[in-house]
Amino acid sequence: MNKENLNLNDIVSRQFDKAAQHLGIHQGLLHQIKACNTVCFFQFPVKIGNRYEVFHGWRAEHSHHRKPVKGGIRYSEMVTQEEIMALAALMTYKCALVDVPFGGAKGGVRLNPRKYEEEDLERITRRYTAELIQKGFIGPGTDVPAPDLGTGEREMAWIADTYDAFHPGGINNLACVTGKPVSQGGIEGRKEATGRGVFYGIREAFSYADDLKKVGLSPGLEGKRVIIQGFGNVGYHSAKFLAEEGGCKIIGASDITGAIYNLQGLDIAKLAQHRAQRKTLLNFAGSRNLSRPEALLELDCDILVPAALENQITLANAKRIRAKAVAEAANGPTTPLAEEILLKKGVLIIPDIYLNAGGVTVSYFEWGKNLSHMRYGRMQKRLEEIQTRTLLESTEELIERNFPAQVLRRLAKGPDEIDIVNSGLEGTMISAYRTIREALHRSKSIKDLRTAAYAVAIKKIARAYVELGVFP
Ligand code: NAD
Repeated sequence: MNKENLNLNDIVSRQFDKAAQHLGIHQGLLHQIKACNTVCFFQFPVKIGNRYEVFHGWRAEHSHHRKPVKGGIRYSEMVTQEEIMALAALMTYKCALVDVPFGGAKGGVRLNPRKYEEEDLERITRRYTAELIQKGFIGPGTDVPAPDLGTGEREMAWIADTYDAFHPGGINNLACVTGKPVSQGGIEGRKEATGRGVFYGIREAFSYADDLKKVGLSPGLEGKRVIIQGFGNVGYHSAKFLAEEGGCKIIGASDITGAIYNLQGLDIAKLAQHRAQRKTLLNFAGSRNLSRPEALLELDCDILVPAALENQITLANAKRIRAKAVAEAANGPTTPLAEEILLKKGVLIIPDIYLNAGGVTVSYFEWGKNLSHMRYGRMQKRLEEIQTRTLLESTEELIERNFPAQVLRRLAKGPDEIDIVNSGLEGTMISAYRTIREALHRSKSIKDLRTAAYAVAIKKIARAYVELGVFP
């Protein structure tokens, strides 16, 4: 609970209601869309050293209007049933928004992964997976987990292997989970997909001069001052792409161990090295440690990227936030009352259900790859190279001039899997933003991007239920 006495489930519920009132959809259907269809709670024992510990695990399946359902698995001491249900709901809306044909789900185990050895985490993950299998909460056509807070490629490989052991000979077994290492049936670009999507989303939002003028910003990302809260998978990759491809200056960053800042800009590659060696961001060369890490959120900047946890911008600190834009890479970082304050101050909020959808988008590509049993680009790469080269050579003949050799090589290169994945992700993030923006501009009553994003998602889900004949 935060100071507003709201858990994440309450927050998501309020965001849903705020959008639903603009849509003219009947109450019964709205209730069905909002309700979490199934939640499974279980306790399971795992031997840790020479004793047994009993862990609490959950899997929530929010909506089955599309199948399979999909959503990450979270390892955190703070996991609760309400949180898992809320995160599952966010997955439903997120998938609808970016046209990923899945319902939403989420799983979690209440534990602090930093307190366990790798072999303990492996036993816990395998046992959790066995519970999901026994209860019918995992499978390529039913429910497909992915990484989230506290989990990554390593855990996804253990899950895939456990599922495979329980389903010998299952030809589609690898599609039971996404976010696997590439060598274990994963897809190029999945690890960085959420952060890359965050970058594409912010870049798109920062391309509309009129919208930015209202918040006192110039268009484009070059030179924009950015602060990143949370330097894990999503935070690190967001920072990397914003700096490397967007030309932004990352002036502050934090993780669970503390916060640092350098107004001249942090070198993200060196910071990642520092963190890998020292297990902390603190004492990074050229930067200053903040004595109160929470104060990082309140520093003057152009774009604040919360990429750690929910409930970070609340009634307690919203008035002190000086960022001109808040780009929600994490799920649920802003509470509804804090959002009201930020919107009144004219802050541009790019909402989580849109901005961090890059992960599930590329997970969808991975799932498709696993079911087709073939790497993207394998069939057409050489053919495209030959066709483009023929076209370029004919052009050379016509204009009686040759392209420089390296230009010819670059233009005639057929697409690899990573090119296809990144272009699919980029196209998805751009078109989803345009849809949300159009919905906002078309509506006379909707005033912010989050409400517009929910409205777009709810309408799509409502249409699916009506077409399925579940509702008239
Ligand atoms: P992660 O475990 O890789 O990283 C989390 C980071 O947050 C770590 O650096 C941790 O030290 C830091 N952190 C934890 N508590 C903090 C605090 N109080 N202050 C500052 N930093 C703190 O997790 P992740 O996968 O990067 O997920 C981060 C957020 O993004 C979560 O809200 C998650 O639900 C969301 N998300 C993740 C994905 C994905 O593909 N991994 C997709 C969509 C959304």
